[in-house]
Amino acid sequence: STTTETRKFEAEVAQVLHLVTHSLYSHKEIFLRELISNASDACDKLRFEAIANPALNAGEGELHIDISWDKDARTISIADNGIGMSRDEVVANIGTIASSGTRRFLEAMGNEQKADARLIGQFGVGFYSAYVVADKVTVLSRRADAPANEGVKWESDGKGEYTLDTVELPERGTTVTLHLKADEDEFLADWKLRSLISRYSDHVAFPIRMQKPGNEAADDESGEPSKDDSAAPQWETINAASALWTKPRSDISDEDYQSFYKSLGHDFNDALAWTHNRVEGSQSFTTLLYLPSQPPFDLMMGGRDERKGLKLYIKRVFVMDAAEELLPNYLRFVRGVIDADDLPLNVSRELLQQNRQLDRIKSACVKRVLDLIETLARDEPEKFATFYKAFGNTLKEGIGEDHANRERIAKLLRFASTKGEAGKQVVSLDDYIGRMATGQDTIWYITAESHAAAFGSPQLEAFKAKDIEVLLMSDRIDEWMLGSLTEYDDRKLQNVAKGELPLDEADKAKQEEAAKSAEPLVARLKTLLGDRVSDVRVSARLTDSPSCLALADFDMAPHFARMLREAGQ
Ligand code: ADP
Ligand code: MG
Repeated sequence: STTTETRKFEAEVAQVLHLVTHSLYSHKEIFLRELISNASDACDKLRFEAIANPALNAGEGELHIDISWDKDARTISIADNGIGMSRDEVVANIGTIASSGTRRFLEAMGNEQKADARLIGQFGVGFYSAYVVADKVTVLSRRADAPANEGVKWESDGKGEYTLDTVELPERGTTVTLHLKADEDEFLADWKLRSLISRYSDHVAFPIRMQKPGNEAADDESGEPSKDDSAAPQWETINAASALWTKPRSDISDEDYQSFYKSLGHDFNDALAWTHNRVEGSQSFTTLLYLPSQPPFDLMMGGRDERKGLKLYIKRVFVMDAAEELLPNYLRFVRGVIDADDLPLNVSRELLQQNRQLDRIKSACVKRVLDLIETLARDEPEKFATFYKAFGNTLKEGIGEDHANRERIAKLLRFASTKGEAGKQVVSLDDYIGRMATGQDTIWYITAESHAAAFGSPQLEAFKAKDIEVLLMSDRIDEWMLGSLTEYDDRKLQNVAKGELPLDEADKAKQEEAAKSAEPLVARLKTLLGDRVSDVRVSARLTDSPSCLALADFDMAPHFARMLREAGQ
C-alpha cells in the first residue's frame, strides 16, 4: 500500500538536467564511471559508519558493486550494498538541494551545444550523467540502519519532476537502473560494459562484479546469461579491487598509477607526475600524491573551493575528503590519498584541524610535493613547463602563505625577463643571480598590467643602457606575492619604479651637474604641476624618454593602485 508522491526538481537541478538531456555529448560512457564511483563512495561510508555501529554491516557478505543489464528491457543496473539513502536523503541528494557544483556546472556549460560528458563528474553532479544515455532513471535505496519496509523508490525522466514511493527492500544499499535512450544500444553488451569497467574503474577498491556469461549461450553473441538457468547467478569480479597505495611501488606499473589517478580525480588526462611514499616510525603513514597535467575545469573557471581529490584513509578505511586539512591552500591542485595508521578512526573534521599528528603528516605532504616539483624542474624541463603553465600562479600564493618554505618555493618560480626569451616565463631567480654583474646586489623587477606594458616601460631605459637584467612581472598575483618576497638568497628584490638607481662615481658627478643645470626647469615644472605631483626630480632612470612617473619607496605600483580603485577600495 504505497502512495506515489510527485515532486518538482529545484530550479537549478532542473536546469542541469535540461542541459544534460539536451546537449550532444562526447564520451557518453562516462556515466558508468560516475555511478560506480557513487556506489564505491556508499561502500566507503558504510565501512566507516560500521566501525561505530557494527550491526550496520551484519548479515550481508563483503561490500560489492554489481553491474547487470537486460537486453529486452533495455536497462543497465548498478547495485551496491553500501550505506543506502533514507527518503529524505534521496530527496536532498538527488533532487532538491543544488550543490555549489550545480551552479558552477551551469555557468561553465551554459553555452556549450556539444559538451564533453567527462566534465560532469568534475562538478560534483556525476549522478546526472545518467541522463546522457537514459531517458528514465529508477533508484531503489534502503539505508543500512532502516528496516526492510522503509525502502525508497525514486524515478524520473529528468524533465522537471520525479516520483517517490516507499517500498519493501530486503537488502540495504542502492540500485540505480538506467532505461536507455533509443540509440544507446551499444551499452547493452557484455564486452562493452566489461571494457568500460576495466578502463575507468579498475582501481575502485571494492569488487565490481558482473554475471558470468552462460556456458550454453554460444549462439547468443551478446553472451547474456540464459534465461531459463534456474541456478543462482554466478558473479565474477572484473576489476583489480585493491587499495593501490598499499602495494609496494615496485609492484605498481605506470599504467596502474595513471588509471588510479583518473578514477580518483575524475580527470581524463594523465597525471603529470606522482610521488608514493611510506613513512614508518612512531607515526606511520602512506602518501600517494599526484600533480595533474591541467587545472580542473572548475579551477580554470576561477572556482576557488575546488578542494576535492585528497582522500584521507585510516588503515584503509576512507574517512573523508580532507584536502583543506592536509594541504595548504597554495597546493590545492594536488590529488591523492593519505592513509594513516595511527589516527583515531572516530576523528572528526574539527578534531582533525587541531590534531598534532596531522601537522606532521601535513608537513610531510608539503615536503613530498615540493620535492616532486623540484625533481621535475631539475630533470624534466618539459613536464616542469607544463606544470608551471597550469599551476605556477597558484604556487606563487605559497610565497605569502608558507613562510617556512618561502625560499624553496621562490626557487621554483619562473619569470619573463629583459634577458629571457620574449614573453616566456622561464628565468629563475638563480638564473638571474648567475648573470648579475659583479657589484650588483639587487634583483630588479618591474610590475605592470601586461607583459607588453612591462617590457615597453620607460622605467627600463637606464637598466637597458647599463645592461642590468630586469624581471618582467605581469600576472595578477605578482604584486601581492612581491609584498612577501623582498629577499632571495640574501639579495634584495626591488621594483625599478621605486627608490634610487645604483650609480657609480662617474655617473654621480654627471648626475649632480645635470641636476644643477636643470634647477630652473624643475622649479617651473613644480609650479606648473602643483598638487598633481609630490615632487619633481632630475633622474638617471631615462636615456631616451624626457620624463616618467616614479614612485617613492613606499608607494603602490600604479596598476596595483588602479586595481584597488576599481575594486572600490
Ligand atoms: P557527488 O558524488 O560528487 O557528491 P553525485 O551527483 O555523483 O555527486 O551524487 C550526489 C549524491 O547522491 C552523493 O553525494 C550521495 O549522497 C548520493 N548518492 C548517489 N549515489 C548513491 C549511492 N549509490 N548510494 C548512496 N548515496 C548515493
Ligand atoms: Mg559522484
